[in-house]
Amino acid sequence: MIPGPFTYHRPSSVSDAIKLLVDLGDEARPLAGGHSLIPMMKLRLATPEHLIDLQGVDGLKGITREDDNIVIGAMTTQHDLLASEVIASWLPVLRETALLIADPQIRYRGTIGGNVANGDPGNDMPALMMMLGASYRLEGPDGVRNEAATDFYQGAYFTSLEPGEILTAVSVPVPATGHGYAYEKLKRKIGDYATAAAAVILTMESCKVVTCAIGLTNLSETPLLAEKAAEAVIGTSLDEAALRNAAALAEEIMLPAADGRGPIEYRKSVGGIMVMRALKRAAARVG
Ligand code: FAD
Repeated sequence: MIPGPFTYHRPSSVSDAIKLLVDLGDEARPLAGGHSLIPMMKLRLATPEHLIDLQGVDGLKGITREDDNIVIGAMTTQHDLLASEVIASWLPVLRETALLIADPQIRYRGTIGGNVANGDPGNDMPALMMMLGASYRLEGPDGVRNEAATDFYQGAYFTSLEPGEILTAVSVPVPATGHGYAYEKLKRKIGDYATAAAAVILTMESCKVVTCAIGLTNLSETPLLAEKAAEAVIGTSLDEAALRNAAALAEEIMLPAADGRGPIEYRKSVGGIMVMRALKRAAARVG
């Protein structure tokens, strides 16, 4: 199957890309790695008349530490994340998550900007970004703004991106030294989207949880932050009762679709199991 006809544009600066998006209006879409957009075009689920390729835009790639944040350019690929010493040293949970996305061929092309801007509940990075307290740099005809990942997702394929805006970078606060982390993803086979996934970051002192955040992937129309579940484990040693309570609280906010990955009750149940596994593995990594 091939996509319908479109006109290809290759701007070399963010301002040129924004101008094209504004001038061409609703029928134009940014193109990053193309591994979500092109399949949707082949299926006629998206039919843009103009593609604004961001590959030639200067300055959209790279991973740097800026004070207490790791700043990742939107066109940085998932493969770049895996190869980065900065990510391995300061954000190992991002590395673990990137390794669970699709397969090497897709990771060579797929970008962090495309993954978080896409708005597909099956994408793995959005829940992770919410859990890490990340923010997105959005540049458009009215200038630059920074949006918290937690405010960005509004529904399946609906985000707070305004017409003409491009996501140019993701900024992630560096987690506390000695933190524990885990991304647990249940999928039907290698290369599949999550049936259910949970991301956890936590700190512990004297075997008790001090801080915790939990993100959930593909368990609702949008990525979720399981705030009550995370609060409930604070002060506990993550014994069996605390783990089960966290899973139950997380399941309360899950609203997965019934689809080829299973009926709703199954997906919620395995979602709870992913939360327990991620909490346990994160705790084992503390220090
Ligand atoms: P594109 O496909 O180019 O764009 C996606 C959308 O985001 C488009 O609407 C585009 O207009 C918009 N966009 C892109 N960049 C920007 C920007 N900078 N600013 C504003 N809007 C932008 N993903 C997962 O997370 N987990 C998986 O398990 C997984 N499995 C996959 C399996 C297969 C077989 C395939 C084909 C893909 C899979 N993916 C998975 C998707 C893959 O990770 C995509 O690469 C990613 O979701 C989108 O990134 P992209 O750079 O390819 O974006």
